[in-house]
Amino acid sequence: MKVTTRASCADPSDPLALTVDQATTAIRDALTPLVGDQQVAIRAALGRVLATDCISPIDVPGHTNSAMDGYALVGSELPKDGVRDYLVVATALAGQCITQACAPGECVRIMTGAPMPPGTDTVVMQEQAERLDDDRVRLDARHRTGQNVRQAGEDIRRGTQVFAAGRRLAPADLGVLASLGFAELRVRRRPRVAFFSTGDELRSIGEPLGEGEIYDSNRYTLYAMLDELGVEIMDLGVVKDDRQALHSAFVQASAEADVVITSGGVSVGEADYTKEILGGLGEMAFWTIAMKPGRPLTFGRLGDAAFFGLPGNPVAVMLTFQQFVRPALRYLASGHWPTPLVIEARSGVALKKRPGRFEFVRGILAYDGQGRAEVRPSGAQGSGILTSMSRANCFILLDEDCAGVVEGELVRVQPFAIEI
Ligand code: AMP
Ligand code: MG
Repeated sequence: MKVTTRASCADPSDPLALTVDQATTAIRDALTPLVGDQQVAIRAALGRVLATDCISPIDVPGHTNSAMDGYALVGSELPKDGVRDYLVVATALAGQCITQACAPGECVRIMTGAPMPPGTDTVVMQEQAERLDDDRVRLDARHRTGQNVRQAGEDIRRGTQVFAAGRRLAPADLGVLASLGFAELRVRRRPRVAFFSTGDELRSIGEPLGEGEIYDSNRYTLYAMLDELGVEIMDLGVVKDDRQALHSAFVQASAEADVVITSGGVSVGEADYTKEILGGLGEMAFWTIAMKPGRPLTFGRLGDAAFFGLPGNPVAVMLTFQQFVRPALRYLASGHWPTPLVIEARSGVALKKRPGRFEFVRGILAYDGQGRAEVRPSGAQGSGILTSMSRANCFILLDEDCAGVVEGELVRVQPFAIEI
């Protein structure tokens, strides 16, 4: 792993600060997708990444069949004008292949999914047929040859590639794979991610709070975001701002995990020894990123593991995770770096901003009175105010050059967790 190290200082207008795009590129360039795969049952494969290309062993559908309940017949026998009566000579049910052919003036009663009887190529839906008695049906001239028939292999042809290796499996994919008869799948192994919080003021939930102490919330937001990603999680708890404790936590985490994530102090090298320990164990970059919130970020290699030292403030943790760590984990797992979906919406209010850094405003995207998408901030934007993050369903993206937004102006909006 080669890490782009760049001098930085604490001034947010620092010309040496990295832009969000530069930091993203540096992270991506330093990482290599993981190797290793395993066999899993199809039900256990949701969110997993295919290790091999998937080639269809069969046609789907396997037989040319009816798309409707109705009457199957030979298309050239349809009336050109007026009406014509037909003898119903058999019934075709789904799951049965009938051998009965249709002579001129004959048709077969057919159910959805039933294979087409020999020689027939057209289905008239029952709602458009007039049943005269048990044996006869009357059809009019509004029909076309070939209608309401699903051709064998029209969805998937035997021998074609259905999914390429690297595909992250969604519910519909599991259905497609089941329709091909796959009971088990070869998938890549999941990234192992170790994380811990740092800070003398932190208490784990369940412990009493002393004077000036706070509950550790970052481990819970991180746990939840990692859980959603489907990675293997190792929660290493709270580690004190203490040289020995930090050193052993870093060593243990990097020995067991592919990726190590911390929140708090270490991200800026709060104490000199943190920088020293991290530097001694790997190759580190202590970045200032021109973004708000989430300015300081440490990225590098800790032993064989990738390391992300996130800021301490709860919203900064979530934002830097979503912008940098989440795509990095997806990339390690699949080889694909996902891009979040960004759409445009009208801002329901004016937004103040000075040029220089990229601001991620926690927002609520909703419909205005006329059914148009409109976005507004979800509350106070301090980087420790987690309730406005909890109310938000998107970030409003105000890029480096933006010098404020007037009410009604179109802004770029990144809805949470939609990526392509
Ligand atoms: P730091 O980066 O360690 O200076 O932390 C910045 C702010 O985030 C401080 O107010 C910390 O108390 C707070 N903070 C750090 N870690 C956590 C955590 N795990 N949970 C909640 N707040 C935290
Ligand atoms: Mg701290």
